Amino acid sequence: MKYLSTRGDATPKRFCEILLEGLAPDGGLYLPAAYPRIDSATLARWRGLAYADLAFEILSLYIDDIPAADLKALVARTYTKDVFGTEAIVPVRRLGDSGLLIEALSNGPTLAFKDMAMQLLGNLFEYELARRGEELNILGATSGDTGSAAEYAMRGKRGVRVFMLSPNGRMSPFQQAQMFSLQDANIHNIAVEGVFDDAQDIVKAVSNDLAFKRAHKIGTVNSINWARLLAQVVYYFAGYFQATKHDSEQVSFTVPSGNFGNVCAGHVARMMGLPIKHLVVATNENDVLDEFFRTGSYRVRKGAETHETSSPSMDISKASNFERFVFDLLGRDGARTRRLFADEIEKQGAFHLTADEFARIATFGFQSGKSTHADRLATIRRTFEAHATMIDTHTADGVKVAAERVEPGVPMIVLETALPAKFAETIREALGREPERPARLEGIESMPKRFTVMPPDTALVKAYITQHIATAT
Ligand SMILES: *Cc1c(COP(=O)(O)O)cnc(C)c1O
Repeated sequence: MKYLSTRGDATPKRFCEILLEGLAPDGGLYLPAAYPRIDSATLARWRGLAYADLAFEILSLYIDDIPAADLKALVARTYTKDVFGTEAIVPVRRLGDSGLLIEALSNGPTLAFKDMAMQLLGNLFEYELARRGEELNILGATSGDTGSAAEYAMRGKRGVRVFMLSPNGRMSPFQQAQMFSLQDANIHNIAVEGVFDDAQDIVKAVSNDLAFKRAHKIGTVNSINWARLLAQVVYYFAGYFQATKHDSEQVSFTVPSGNFGNVCAGHVARMMGLPIKHLVVATNENDVLDEFFRTGSYRVRKGAETHETSSPSMDISKASNFERFVFDLLGRDGARTRRLFADEIEKQGAFHLTADEFARIATFGFQSGKSTHADRLATIRRTFEAHATMIDTHTADGVKVAAERVEPGVPMIVLETALPAKFAETIREALGREPERPARLEGIESMPKRFTVMPPDTALVKAYITQHIATAT
């Protein structure tokens, strides 16, 4: 399989070439040159597979530069009951007779769906770096979920170090404990005295220093990485098989969305031929995507217009993976995609589809909806009372929107993107009680912590990186 850029650069690349890269050189995102189509015989055969075997089948269609035996072993090592808690890996449960089902994607080490992809990425990085005889220093800024998923994926991996910046004292005690309790020598937590944007600015400044970046082998694990998206395609298939008996049946998915990475994987699964009727994009008060699917206008928000909500992992001003879907929507016209994302967004912070382009959205199965703090509280309460099921704030946004979109005879699968334990404050507000917490995380707040506090100063962060690369080799 060859990969090309959404902005028209068609220089073919292979999977392992783009694995450690971010954007394509022309500023676009990588996509496969074509989506492999799954016929009904293959779909029937996959229905009976264990999760890791299903993952291997799907990944092999997109990865032809890792020997099959190596890929199979790597995937088998990633998706285990030990790491994800159940044999099913992504168990689906029914919410009474509401027509809604919940697919649990958040039983990995950090209790959020990002583990599904990040755990695979950790093993892929270690494999590819060893093969090249190279090292990589991952630099990132986090306000919670992404940073901890990256650290738990990369801990103890050979050839990889993680330098993760977070706003000092601004994460929840639980999130802080999750990250700072890691004692692995290759994980570095830097608590910046400032807000998330200060941490993010430092990461940008370091990344813009190309000489430093090259000399210190700095890389990232951001959400536009194709391997992350590909790993997520697998659970759409796994969810479909659990919710249906025959491959003639259709299902719909509702996806709590921020950067459009999760639901974009659903789009890929549908393009491969998985019988998905609708892909419902659920947003919180930060409704850039809901607005787009309702109006055909994509209007990037400014920092000051971005709301801080009780589903914080969906608080985005622009959706970094969105360009992938738009490229497909525009018939893979790289020049038109470039005009919209490079020219119009740069110049006026927005673009507007033509009426013809907008009309095409329906053929891709997309719908959308929005949820607010009051909706979240009500949904968490109703789900708990009616179905004895405690859901987190992001999943609640999904359940709220899914209930508006469910159709008779079509199972509606809501992707559960985090466990309630991560968002105790809102659970207390909704239910007047503490969220359940997996036994292995009891008392995590009192574990010894390993982190360095630093003023928001790029030079100091660079010096820290230089020193810790030197002492480790
Ligand atoms: C990252 C995240 C999301 C949003 O996913 P995208 O791929 O960015 O759309 C939703 N919920 C939780 C809990 C997350 O961590």
